[in-house]
This record gives sequence, C-alpha cells and structure tokens, in this order.
Amino acid sequence: MSFVDSNADRLAFVVCAGLILVPLEHLLPRRKGQTLRRAGLKLDISYMLFGALGTMLVSAGVIALCVTLFAGLVPEAVRSLVRAQPVWAQVIALIVVGDLYYYWAHRLFHTVPALWKFHAVHHSIEEMDWVAAHRTHPVDTGITNSGFAIVALLFDVSATAYAIFSLQFAFHSLLKHSNVAVGWGWLRWLYVTPTFHHWHHANVAHAHDKNFAAQFPLWDRLFGTALMMESQGPARYGVDDPVPMTFLGSLVFPFWSGRGRTAAGAVSGDPEHRPEQRPEHRPDMADHSGRSDHAVGEAQAMELAALQA
Ligand SMILES: [Zn+2]
Ligand SMILES: [Zn+2]
Repeated sequence: MSFVDSNADRLAFVVCAGLILVPLEHLLPRRKGQTLRRAGLKLDISYMLFGALGTMLVSAGVIALCVTLFAGLVPEAVRSLVRAQPVWAQVIALIVVGDLYYYWAHRLFHTVPALWKFHAVHHSIEEMDWVAAHRTHPVDTGITNSGFAIVALLFDVSATAYAIFSLQFAFHSLLKHSNVAVGWGWLRWLYVTPTFHHWHHANVAHAHDKNFAAQFPLWDRLFGTALMMESQGPARYGVDDPVPMTFLGSLVFPFWSGRGRTAAGAVSGDPEHRPEQRPEHRPDMADHSGRSDHAVGEAQAMELAALQA
C-alpha cells in the first residue's frame, strides 16, 4: 500500500498539485521574491522523479515486518468496529492513530544520531516550496510514512478510506512545505498548517526538535513539542550538516562512516564541514548556525518576541 500507487498516478498527482500550488505560491507567497528557480531545485526534482521508488521498496519491507509481528495484537472485535464506521470516520481515525506512529518515528529520527543523518537530507531544504517537499531520503520516508499503512492493515480500514486518506496526505505534504501564507483559524490545532511545519524546518535554536506531527498537531501539544507561531514564519531554514546537494551524494551521505553527529552530539569527519551541536546537546549554545553573533541575536530576538506575543 502506498500513497499513490502507480507511476502514472504519481505523475498525474504531481501535475494536478502543481496546477494548484504554483498559482497559490504566486498569489499568496510567504516569502515574497522567492522564485521557483532556486538553489536545490534540480535535487528536489530528482527526488520527485526517482525518490518514490526507493521509498516504496523500504516501505514494503517495513510494512510487511510490522504487520507480521503485530497481526494478532488487534482483537477482531475492534477490527469489526472499525469496518462498521463510515468512511469519513475511518479517515479521521487513521489520521489520528497513524500520526501517533509518525510522531514517534519522526522524533526518533531527530534523536538517534545514525537516523538523523537520513533525516538531515530533508532538513537540508533552505528555501521551502512544494517541490522541495520531495527531498526526503527513502530510508527516512519509508519508515516514518509506513505507520499509516500499518495502522490501516492492522485495524482493517477500508480501501476507500485509505485511498481518500492517501490523497489528502500526499497533497497536504506538498502544501505544508509550500511557500504559501495560509492559515486555517482554529483548525490549526487539529490539522497541521504550513506555518507549523515551516517552524519544524527552522534553523534557529528554539525551534529545533519541535512540531513533529505530520497531520495532527495535538500530538505535539500532548508530548510538549508544539511551537505554534501562526503570525509569522521562521527567518531561516536548513541544517548545518554537510548534506551534498546532488541526488546520489545525498542518498549515500547517511552511510558515510565517521561523519555526522554522534550520540553525545560530538562530530567526527571533515572539520571544514563540521556541523555544530544542536541545543539539546549543548544547552548553553544560543544558535548552531554559522551566522555572526549579531545576526543570530537580532533574528532570535525577533522570533522570541513573536513567541511571547
Ligand atoms: Zn524533522
Ligand atoms: Zn518537512
């Protein structure tokens, strides 16, 4: 089970999504002046065209393993109850329960140094738009996104409900990365907004390791990782890890031995490209960027002021 099953479906979906999101990014830009032609665009198009294949391979293994391991855990009475629900209720339940798996898998990718190297590929995006959303390492997406299919199979969610879920999930994934300034009022507490996810990508200390949910932000509220700042987006995105800006380079980057963060937050490898430690490892550190102290202080003061507003 995948979000969009065939290459033809995937192509049709991307074309339709582009027809909606390109005009929206033009009419309601979050960052005015940001154009579609930007640094990293070739890399993101490569992931758009070829990344799904790797993700499907990893997903197939993860889903098969988990469903085999946990098949007997859900009582038949619960599966029958799920089957008896209307499609819309199954879709909502899948968003909520599946996102609980996603939340913890995503959080694990931020916490375990070996996993972070895979996830750093996604966080290397420095200019957010709907095309950049595709930049995810197959090992990362293959594990984190599989939770929805696992939950659907274990709880016997109907094929129709899963198809509707998949379509909204795929479009929402592009929308929440897009350079579109839209909010949805009180619904922001129930359904992840672009601003919520943009803060997840912020390269400022106070936003690190926040907003892990894919769709249901109440998980972040419940587990103490929510950063709700709908009034403005972050000043800066990206990571300091030396993620290569080529398709093959970024695919093999996590496997390089001796590079990236270690469990203690120390880094080995080329000192010229040494990523700084993140704040959970160095609480005394105001920011792990390479910017000047003045620039860091100014940006953080603005962002903290917005936090308190
Ligand atoms: Zn992340
Ligand atoms: Zn993202």
